[in-house]
Amino acid sequence: MATQICPNCKKDSFTWRMDDELSTFTIWGCYNCFYEAFENEANVQNCDTCEKKTATKLKDATQEYWWCSNCARSKN
Ligand SMILES: [Zn+2]
Ligand SMILES: [Zn+2]
Repeated sequence: MATQICPNCKKDSFTWRMDDELSTFTIWGCYNCFYEAFENEANVQNCDTCEKKTATKLKDATQEYWWCSNCARSKN
């Protein structure tokens, strides 16, 4: 599976998995720093930077922010 840039440690080690019980959510996890965040796939918008529709809302234990799975840009 392709890995993405982790928004927490900036290493190329961020991958996702589906949660069977909460099927509208994808769980992103980093195997370098063990950071985890939930993606609600209902929230997708165009990324300001790369202009692809790949910016999704991630929610972790402390915050919610937009993150682009194409260029790895994050913003609040
Ligand atoms: Zn990480
Ligand atoms: Zn982007």
